[in-house]
Amino acid sequence: MDLTEMQYHVLTTERCNLKCKYCGGTRNLPGVPLDITYDIRHLIDFISKDKEAVIGFYGGEPLLSMDRLEEIMDKVPVRAFTLQTNGTLLHELKDPYLHKLHSILVSLDGDSKITDESRGEGTYDMVMDNIKNIKEKGFKGDLIARMAFSDEGDIHRDVTHLLRTFDHVHWQLDVFWTELENRENVNSWIDRYDEGIRLLIEDFKNGMKKGSVIGIVPFIPVFRTLITGEPHHIWCGSGMDSFTIMTSGSIEACPIAPELLYSNIGDIRTSTPGGIENSRPVGTPCTECDILWVCGGRCLFANQTMGWGREWFDRICLTTRRMIDGLKELVPLAKELMKDGTLKEDAFDYPEINNGCEIIP
Ligand code: SF4
Ligand code: SF4
Repeated sequence: MDLTEMQYHVLTTERCNLKCKYCGGTRNLPGVPLDITYDIRHLIDFISKDKEAVIGFYGGEPLLSMDRLEEIMDKVPVRAFTLQTNGTLLHELKDPYLHKLHSILVSLDGDSKITDESRGEGTYDMVMDNIKNIKEKGFKGDLIARMAFSDEGDIHRDVTHLLRTFDHVHWQLDVFWTELENRENVNSWIDRYDEGIRLLIEDFKNGMKKGSVIGIVPFIPVFRTLITGEPHHIWCGSGMDSFTIMTSGSIEACPIAPELLYSNIGDIRTSTPGGIENSRPVGTPCTECDILWVCGGRCLFANQTMGWGREWFDRICLTTRRMIDGLKELVPLAKELMKDGTLKEDAFDYPEINNGCEIIP
């Protein structure tokens, strides 16, 4: 069986050295060991069956288990390695491992005020020092800021700030664990978000006119889909071509909720990549949605749990719809700019691999 390119989040540890507001730090989930308990030979056997495998190190904070990360990079054959990190230990990555990473995704929410509010006093400065450190060491891979967009955020301001340092900026709405209806000022928060997206789309348009594609991760692949008309499945790939290998060796659709039944896929000791591919498609209401072909279903977890109830699910969908509609308006301009050579034909071919960005916020 031919596999499409598959991405595997590998959790090197469940431990975390921060306690961010929206996540809470080390999870201590029943049945999920804090550190890897499987024999790495089982990971080698499993991954070797997928010639195009991408491993994305994930946690907890994956760099807290540096030995395991190095061992996996030394021994497991893959197309590429990526890393999602809170950035506090980046300076400890030894050169050969740093330079072997295709992409590094660093969690930051904007400037020091907005980041430290959620992630702890002094986090922003510490992480920015470490970014400087890896740049000085000559890191040439894709450097991506990964934001959680929360109550105090201003999406236009925060993305613009991080684009000064990073090649690309991605974000996720801080909506996973919250009872949305009980959150203070949630309506104005989402309205402000929609307005900020409109401003970012304006910036994206102005960039295109000058022949450049601003590194706003959620826009680029969605825009490419709008140009080509080729449908895409769920962008994070969860349950389709992206899976998570937990510290126990169990395989989940994604790292977020291993305690939920829909998430359990298999185990590296008994499953094969070919056997798990495309095993958890999104269900209703996404399957009845007119923009499924471009949205992809946004999030398998939200789709399967419908945790906020239909009304709030639809409100979050409206932000996706508005983003897509705003980008759709730029398609004729992009086609013209491609025709006259201002933009290259492959200008929107991003990301090169599934680098762990979920794409739809
Ligand atoms: S817009 Fe909403 S309902 Fe439509 S595909 Fe996306 S997540 Fe599903
Ligand atoms: S978008 Fe949803 S399904 Fe995809 S990785 Fe994130 S939590 Fe999991």
